[in-house]
Amino acid sequence: MNPNELDQAFQTLNILLLKLLGCLLPKRKKDTEKKLQIMTENISQAISEKKIAFFQWKQNGRPPDPNHPLTIQKKITTSSLQAEIHVKAINLFGNISRANCDSIEWRIAERQLQIKSHNSCSWFIEVKELCLKYEINDLYAYLTNPLSKFQWKKLVKSKIHDYWTSKITDESKGYSTLKFMDHKYNIGSVHPLAISVNANLKDIRKIPVRLKISTGNYILQTHKASFSKNNFISPTCKLCGKADETVEHFILLCEKLEETRIPLLSKILDNGSLILAKLQLRFNRVLSN
Ligand SMILES: [Zn+2]
Repeated sequence: MNPNELDQAFQTLNILLLKLLGCLLPKRKKDTEKKLQIMTENISQAISEKKIAFFQWKQNGRPPDPNHPLTIQKKITTSSLQAEIHVKAINLFGNISRANCDSIEWRIAERQLQIKSHNSCSWFIEVKELCLKYEINDLYAYLTNPLSKFQWKKLVKSKIHDYWTSKITDESKGYSTLKFMDHKYNIGSVHPLAISVNANLKDIRKIPVRLKISTGNYILQTHKASFSKNNFISPTCKLCGKADETVEHFILLCEKLEETRIPLLSKILDNGSLILAKLQLRFNRVLSN
């Protein structure tokens, strides 16, 4: 038998075996079952942000410290995804409340909201619990007297924003690294420290440095000294050599940085005086009225 015949024989045998396996194994069911469409652009975006945050956290050795920036990022993206899913579920209930009273969905909603207890697995009861969390009370009343699509979306948006704003603001008070961020958190607006004066690259590059200094993550000599275990690193400021390089020294005291600091400080003082003068003027006007 020549090699070509041998190859052909193997191929024929393989085809026969595959056909035989095809007859013996059960056929795969076609995925024809309809699935509830819950994916929105916001949910999809939140999922990818959560995946990236989890990947970065995992790649950096799964830091257990709750104050670690990657752990915080992981937590924030999880909350963000949770909020998007909640918006979708509550808006879906809004659609059902506006449906015709004869429709199956509306009738199921009416029945389940009336008879099911709070520990039931019913979707409507879960949405009811969800709404209570956001202080949207008496879901049954919204079913029988539905709001318009615009009113419902507005209500849901404001309630969810209020909930997450106060939750994030309260939680931020527990993080020592955020004490200089003034616990200012408003959904949809950027923190004043992360805003650049101009949109040029030079100003934008200053943002991470500013944030690192205010959160205590900017590495100064005192940090390097506290991190070094075996190699002795001096905490003394390398610019002036006169004191430990702490944040206070770096921003307010180092004499080698005077030249940069003096014009900035006078600008801050000028702006501060202007704000105070305006406030005084407003206060005097209120008093005179
Ligand atoms: Zn110095």
